[in-house]
Amino acid sequence: MSETFDNWIDGGFVAPASGGRMPTINPFSGEAWAEVADDPDAVDVAVRSARKAFEDGPWATMPARERARLMRALGAAMTRDADELAQAETRDNGKIIRETTAQAKSIESYLDFFAGMADKITGEQLPSPSPNFLVYTERVPKGVIGAIIPWNSPLSLLTWKLGPLLAAGCTVVVKPSDITPVTALMLAERATEVGFPPGVINIVTGGAGVGAAISSHPDIDKITFTGGGVTAKHVARAAAENLTPAVMELGGKSPQILFGDADVEAATNGLLAGIFAASGQTCVAGSRAYIHEDIADEVIARLVKRAGEIVMGDPSDIATEMGPAASDAQRDRILSMIEAAKDEGATVAAGGVVDPELGGRFVRPTILTDVDNTCSIVQEEVFGPVLAIMRFTDEDEVVTLANDSDYGLAAGVWTNDIRRGHRMARKLDVGTVWINTYRNVSYMAPFGGFKQSGYGKDNGIEAMDAFLQTKTVWVELEGATRDPFVIG
Ligand code: NAD
Repeated sequence: MSETFDNWIDGGFVAPASGGRMPTINPFSGEAWAEVADDPDAVDVAVRSARKAFEDGPWATMPARERARLMRALGAAMTRDADELAQAETRDNGKIIRETTAQAKSIESYLDFFAGMADKITGEQLPSPSPNFLVYTERVPKGVIGAIIPWNSPLSLLTWKLGPLLAAGCTVVVKPSDITPVTALMLAERATEVGFPPGVINIVTGGAGVGAAISSHPDIDKITFTGGGVTAKHVARAAAENLTPAVMELGGKSPQILFGDADVEAATNGLLAGIFAASGQTCVAGSRAYIHEDIADEVIARLVKRAGEIVMGDPSDIATEMGPAASDAQRDRILSMIEAAKDEGATVAAGGVVDPELGGRFVRPTILTDVDNTCSIVQEEVFGPVLAIMRFTDEDEVVTLANDSDYGLAAGVWTNDIRRGHRMARKLDVGTVWINTYRNVSYMAPFGGFKQSGYGKDNGIEAMDAFLQTKTVWVELEGATRDPFVIG
């Protein structure tokens, strides 16, 4: 084990008082490459630092434009060090270096967009019920935020939270995933380097105990969580004890729908990228496909051929297209769900096994046919490279099938009929619809799910709402004119 990292609290590294530690494993080599703190008691220390920064520190009185300047400086530092950050991220979660590099380089654009929001937070003057009163609202920061982050895109998903909360004037205690704890610490180091005051960004690494300490902390004003539905319910229950509100960005079982008039080549590429990019370990994985009967044989043949050609290997190699599952537990879950699908009658058209040469955590790109909406593989999130394919004949039928899911994160529609594309967007019960494209995300586009995929939004101007609250101010201008014993 080569490196040891402490928590980042109050602008510097702080060793865990309990001495609690945990390793972080490189999923490609299987080696523990670093050790981080794992001490739930550190959460309280971090919350006190964040509270002080929010109420007494320079952050509390800093002009919005100065907050924006710091955010942009952090973005520039992240771009400067994008290669180093991407290497650490790939080492931690096995995601291919092409994507971790692109994600590290995109952070600056997200921070820049939200920096632009910092000095545009306005209330409004309200029409008063009487000329004697001036009534207005102010939008004020929510306070100390607890952010809990998953392992699949650690830096990006952390930035989706940081952009709006910093612009709003909040401070934060972040818990990165126990599988990918290091890059959040690297970001916080850079925040201090560019001039962020102590306590604004605190990072407490560790496992479920640290997450639980954040969810149940009475002095956290809002939780923002990205992760799985089971964990989300633990978090929401603990937060409810303190009436702490939460944003929940959860999983999905997103349908990709191919109509008979679709551009078959583009749709095949979209299906492949939707499910096999990041080894299927993305919340928006297009994991169930509904293909019109007229083109189904052709598309399946193309998909099987292309899935067999995907280059798997060392994720830090620029030529690699698919890396390993992020952990042994993740690989075991993927394989057990493939076995369960076979027991329910699925046919394995491609993959279905660990790569015979690479072994370990490399699950081959998997395509399953002979499934329907009653199968667990069509209803449950795998979070791995497994595509379940079904056929349909009629638009109304496929809308019903696509919406027959507990989840509602995203959907892809492939058609050359412009009216049908928009009609489908209207009918699909999901937070994002992609038409003739898939897996686009951006700082300016609100992102979040319907149904069991969560509530609240990351990204877009709307993301600011989670970290602001409205204060109403009444001013009497002329002197008392009403009965003080009667409300009005
Ligand atoms: P997870 O729910 O296992 O963990 C998420 C975070 O919660 C981690 O930091 C984890 O350590 C922490 N945690 C674990 N137990 C906890 C507890 N009892 N209390 C508080 N925190 C606890 O999810 P994961 O495996 O890290 O990520 C995969 C999931 O995240 C998938 O379901 C995926 O779809 C979802 N996801 C959603 C989005 C989105 O924006 N909608 C984005 C990426 C991932």
